[in-house]
Amino acid sequence: MHSADTANRKTAGPWVEVDLAALCENFAMLRRATPGAETAAVVKCNAYGLGLAPVAQALATRENCRTFFVAYAEEGAQLRAALSSSAPNASIYVFVGPLPDTLDAFDDAGLIPVLNNADQVRRWISHKPGAPCALHVDTGMNRLGASVDDLSELAALSDLNVDVLMSHLACGSEPDHPMNSEQRTAFEKAAALFPKARRSLAASAGALMDASYHFDLTRPGIALYGGSPFDVDDGRIKPVVSLKAPIVQMRMLAPGETVGYGATFTAQTPTAIATVALGYGDGYPIAGSNRAFAAIAGERAKFAGRVSMDLICLDVTGFKKPPQVGETAEFFGETIGLFEAAQACGTIPYELLTGLGGRVDRRYV
Ligand SMILES: *Cc1c(COP(=O)(O)O)cnc(C)c1O
Repeated sequence: MHSADTANRKTAGPWVEVDLAALCENFAMLRRATPGAETAAVVKCNAYGLGLAPVAQALATRENCRTFFVAYAEEGAQLRAALSSSAPNASIYVFVGPLPDTLDAFDDAGLIPVLNNADQVRRWISHKPGAPCALHVDTGMNRLGASVDDLSELAALSDLNVDVLMSHLACGSEPDHPMNSEQRTAFEKAAALFPKARRSLAASAGALMDASYHFDLTRPGIALYGGSPFDVDDGRIKPVVSLKAPIVQMRMLAPGETVGYGATFTAQTPTAIATVALGYGDGYPIAGSNRAFAAIAGERAKFAGRVSMDLICLDVTGFKKPPQVGETAEFFGETIGLFEAAQACGTIPYELLTGLGGRVDRRYV
């Protein structure tokens, strides 16, 4: 994942390296895993924190991805602009659907709404009768989506042109959870009312489950970005993102001395501490304090003391090669997996990636 270009770039603070080739390999892997279905890319939340434009452009130009999902209309407008030369005709779906004051954004950027309830359906068909849309049917998650009880009434509306019927799994992170097949059955029943619509049930988890979850269109997000959608790591997914930061100070502690706010780490023996320029202000969770690991030149170092806003201290006692100021510490990437880092912080890869702050430089390799 190292290029000379990236390695030579000097910085005072943290950065992420986004491996766009690995992103594209994950897209291709998901496509191979779901033969017969189209693979879309979910690029909401700034492509899970990695940068909307570079991610979408890479998928459009290298993998010929032509269908994208975002959460909000504003994200759709940004995506349309980002794809203006690489994929001007891409289909951009907006999960939250049209709200009274976002209808204009749908028109201006040529966005396709995901309609989530009867109100949104009425709003859309009175705005643009017969214009294509997706319809989200709730099959048990009770978050977004039209109730199954409303579907026959909606199916009878002649101005409603459903081109994708979708639903979302509540327990995809546990493939054996009984709710998955219950939702699939409810979804198939709903789909029978919309025979012309393409069917979409699978996010990353569903795409990596058996073929009965694949249907016509899949909507992976996290697996594109190197994160497992499951409660365990998944070897089919290539790492995409590395979070790195420079060591800004080295210090030796005598036994009994402490580290950081609250003095929560006490040296038991002579202890070498490396202080690194990354903190919770950059999105690294404070829950990693005294628990998580980083790696310096491939050697693992445990966090010593509490994560602070701009700094994290690492216990590098006994390192084969004593770390130097200016050397790079990796918080996830080649040595420390994204899944491991998320677990050490009591969170999930999704939150770790999307939480990366604005101060973290995004570099594309
Ligand atoms: C975010 C989202 C996805 C993508 O989910 P991943 O688990 O990241 O693959 C797909 N569908 C809907 C409705 C979503 O909200």
